[in-house]
Amino acid sequence: MPQIKILPTDLRNKIAAGEVVERPASVLKELVENAIDAGSSEIIVEVLNGGKRMIKVSDNGTGMDKEDALLSFEPHATSKISVFDDLFDIRSLGFRGEALASIASVSKVKLVTGLKGASSGISIEIDGGKVKEIRDSPLAGTSFEVRDLFYNTPARKKFLKTNSTELFHIIDTLTKEALSHHQIGFSLLTDTQETMNLPRASGPRERLMQVFGNEFVTGLIEVNSAGEAMELSAFVSSSGNFRNSKSHQYIFINRRPIKDASVSHALYKAYEGILPPDKHPIFFVFLTIDPARVDFNVHPTKREVRFEDKEAIYRFINSRLRDRIKEDRTEYAKQFTEAPEEEVFGPPSFQRYLAPETSFPAQGGSVVSENLELTYRPSLPFIYLGDTFIAVAGRGGLSIIDHHAAHERVLYEKLLSGMHSMTRQLLFPKQVRVSGKEYRVLLDNREMLNAFGFEVEDFGNSTVIVRTVPVELDDADLPAMLFDIAAGFIDPNTSFQSLKDNIAARIACHSSIRGKKILSQEELSGLLTDLEKTEHPDQCPHGRPTRIFYSLHDLNKLFKRK
Ligand code: ADP
Ligand code: MG
Repeated sequence: MPQIKILPTDLRNKIAAGEVVERPASVLKELVENAIDAGSSEIIVEVLNGGKRMIKVSDNGTGMDKEDALLSFEPHATSKISVFDDLFDIRSLGFRGEALASIASVSKVKLVTGLKGASSGISIEIDGGKVKEIRDSPLAGTSFEVRDLFYNTPARKKFLKTNSTELFHIIDTLTKEALSHHQIGFSLLTDTQETMNLPRASGPRERLMQVFGNEFVTGLIEVNSAGEAMELSAFVSSSGNFRNSKSHQYIFINRRPIKDASVSHALYKAYEGILPPDKHPIFFVFLTIDPARVDFNVHPTKREVRFEDKEAIYRFINSRLRDRIKEDRTEYAKQFTEAPEEEVFGPPSFQRYLAPETSFPAQGGSVVSENLELTYRPSLPFIYLGDTFIAVAGRGGLSIIDHHAAHERVLYEKLLSGMHSMTRQLLFPKQVRVSGKEYRVLLDNREMLNAFGFEVEDFGNSTVIVRTVPVELDDADLPAMLFDIAAGFIDPNTSFQSLKDNIAARIACHSSIRGKKILSQEELSGLLTDLEKTEHPDQCPHGRPTRIFYSLHDLNKLFKRK
């Protein structure tokens, strides 16, 4: 039961104070964390206009009596700590007693609250920090309604972004709170639409499934491990399940979402030797540490922490994950090493990749003639090197082609030019469950997706239904691609000229992600001819080379003949 007191001055001065209200999402974070601290099991969030017009958080927690309700808006008023030593044993999300005072000073707030079991509660209205009205009200639990954020500070209001950008931040913030508090039910209504509905879950795995869908969670490995004074529960990429961006990386320490370069590094390091360049692992890391060994009183919005023993944390996370990932990697590798003999690259299988009519010698490498034609003929001799590279004799030399990169370049330019002609209707329209943030962004950008050959519709409950895809994306992993496209919309990569280019590059990248396809003679020469027609045939949209060419002259030089 809250018993709010004003913190003594010397303790106030030891608190990392600072502005906590940057934007609607920061208001939401403070209100939701208060609701969590109040022991709620259901939290309902409603927002209007990306939270600029209104943010309302209702909970079924302890509630407050009249005295506490009035005190809660005072600066440095908190029920969560009272003496200096409490700072080293923080078990609640809040502790500074500042949030409500700051929020109330820059908005119009209505608080309705009542203690559980009490016969009546109280309703307080405050505008710009001044109490306007106090009434009795029959409510157990608490509801905070914050309207017209920054109405009295136009300079700060100017920095707010569009409704949809503010909404992404709101969804992102609420998603993080929901991931680390699976035992609480969360729902989010945005302009009367239900954007998120997460019933109370049995554990983090179930919560992850609710947010990202079952398929997404299947691609993760779960690691649970206890160490000295800390406990780790993590869900991380299994071998081969990597992303093009850092969009699915979450770190929680004692249930708080934080950013920490050293924890991230420990994770990346665990994938050393497995993670391809430019790829990023998915990770959800929930670390529980003795509160005496971690300081949350570092950053005004508590985004950063200071560990008593940073290296111990690094070693713990890195070693536990590395071992588990290694196990998974061994399992993964079996798929290839135990494959039937003809699947394995080696002399006998050369024949398989050769067109019957070629005179390519079965052993001894290719014969490169200076008279080979300029265009690639359907009967060109070629050899697969692994499953990515193809060596082709032609154009008076030897080309080594990265067929995925080549394919990406071709598709990327096709997407950016004549788009519609390439759409293919899916026989079975595919439902893809995404998280609330992705859901909104995909639906908001349906028009551009359409132009690229995706017909995407709202299926409700964070699910979209995909009816058509570009022909080239026959076997792409649709959920992974949609996540990636959504990440592109949310966080446009500035190294690309425009959003359209960025999205096209992301789509193109997925055309070849499943990589195991062996091309036929016709497909290969088709690909090479298409590549030739592109504007930048030598590079994929991300700037990696698509092909490397050795002329006879180069080869002579390499063999020191000239
Ligand atoms: P802090 O969370 O750091 O204590 P706040 O300004 O966020 O400071 O809140 C002040 C006090 O108001 C809290 O300590 C708590 O006692 C009370 N309070 C705020 N929100 C709620 C809520 N939803 N339910 C019950 N009590 C609340
Ligand atoms: Mg608080």
